[in-house]
Amino acid sequence: MNKGVAKKALSGVAAAGAAAMLLTGLAACGQSTAENKKTSDGKPIVTILVQQNTTQIPIGQMTWAKELEKESGAKIEWKVVLDTAWGQQKNAALAAGDLSDLNIRAYHPDDASQNPDAFEDLSKDMDKLPNVEAFFKEQPVAKKFVEVEGHLWVLPSSRGKAFSASGQHMLINKTWLDKLGLKVPTTWKELTKVLEAFKTQDPNGNGKQDEIPMNLRALPTDQLAGWWSPFLFMNSTGLATHFNSGPSGQGIYVKDGKVGNFMTTDEFRQVLNYLASLKKEGLVPNDWVTTDKYDSRNQVGGNTAQVGVVFGWDATAFGTVGSDLYNQYVTIPVPSADGVSADDTVWDASGVSGANEYEDYHMAMSSKAANKDACLKIINLLYSEKYSVQQLYGSTTDGYLEKTGDHSYKVTEKFVEERDAQKTPALEDRLAGWIPDADEFEGDKNLTSIVEADKPYAEQYSHLNGEKDYMPIYVRLSAADQTTYANNNTTIATTAMPLIAKMAQNGADDATWNSLQEQLKSMNLQQNIDLWQKAYDKYVK
Ligand code: MG
Repeated sequence: MNKGVAKKALSGVAAAGAAAMLLTGLAACGQSTAENKKTSDGKPIVTILVQQNTTQIPIGQMTWAKELEKESGAKIEWKVVLDTAWGQQKNAALAAGDLSDLNIRAYHPDDASQNPDAFEDLSKDMDKLPNVEAFFKEQPVAKKFVEVEGHLWVLPSSRGKAFSASGQHMLINKTWLDKLGLKVPTTWKELTKVLEAFKTQDPNGNGKQDEIPMNLRALPTDQLAGWWSPFLFMNSTGLATHFNSGPSGQGIYVKDGKVGNFMTTDEFRQVLNYLASLKKEGLVPNDWVTTDKYDSRNQVGGNTAQVGVVFGWDATAFGTVGSDLYNQYVTIPVPSADGVSADDTVWDASGVSGANEYEDYHMAMSSKAANKDACLKIINLLYSEKYSVQQLYGSTTDGYLEKTGDHSYKVTEKFVEERDAQKTPALEDRLAGWIPDADEFEGDKNLTSIVEADKPYAEQYSHLNGEKDYMPIYVRLSAADQTTYANNNTTIATTAMPLIAKMAQNGADDATWNSLQEQLKSMNLQQNIDLWQKAYDKYVK
């Protein structure tokens, strides 16, 4: 499930062809009328669109889904759409007002607030959704996450408190450190020294100077940062990123309740200069800014590692859990920037905001659904504990998941094998459901891996002053402000990213830095900051 996040992006191209075929069928279906939405024997027909990826079997083939259909008394028509195709398809569906009756991981609250007539406001149906009500009672942040001015057009998912970890970590080759007799670096200066030793002392022992001291992920061109961005070094300066989600990817941050943008700060300039120094010393790949080799450089296979340090998910960046390469890496707290104390150094707030536990777009219902009661019954079943856990880890009937107590479960080897073979018989993190805090799972080695990976950051998380130092996941821009923000960002990214890419490689000299600042001013960066400050003040204070 953790790897699903990474694989999502990678599996895209291969999936596109199959997705196009699926979508042709989908478009042809069109909007059904109430009369033809029953089977010949009188069962209500409910269409459910699910955004899946190629590492999962189609939902209609999952045993728990067949059992859910039977229990619901409805005839369910599943429509699978693959990740890469969905972006375009979504816009077409919204423009036509043609939604499937139910939609899993398809529409965000922001989509709904811009097209409110197309969506059922589920806040009016809560009497038929006691399982959703129980979810919101136990985990109120989940409700805040999707509620837009009292409306509940989309329901969130929770994959459980165990997933309350950042998806961003800093990994170092511990085998290399030990071999060279070096300590885990705690400052940028120490990190540079360690990287120099990695470069020159053949820590992988093959007699060649083939080590990549630090492997960096390329910079995007359409925004400042994405997952595992080198700008995670901002945390070294005391300004927290939130790269799992939200506006942090466009540089928005919060410090002491005040919203700003990284791109205007001295701290950002300091990070650019540090990155440039690493390139100058040959400690990062020369082509890192634009390369597509970040993954392949990590995953060389065998037992001879090539990479010393990366930002990544966990050691599965290098190989499956337990593999030779996986075992060489540990996560470490981010080293402090020059002049910043360890006490002021923080870590990516996705690990404490719930960003990794919750997603905000897991169930939406068409306002035109013909069989409304049947739809609500299905939603309520999906959000039961019984079906939530099976959505996450596969059906109990098939022996993928074993119930070992009232709220305890064992993920079986059978499930793990299917998942490793990329034939996962579950929705995993795409579930339209919620995992109660009382639930315990054993046997998921990937979950254990990410939980362990996050532990070294407890201290740096504690340096965050709660929601005063990051944008909570439930803060939203209004529909009009979203449009303004997005339009400004398009212009900003086009102009700013080439300058930033240049400075990340060559250093933030006065001329380039000042040019960036002037450009940001003229492109309404301040307006974007003000919009998020307004939203933050509305939702948080
Ligand atoms: Mg070597």
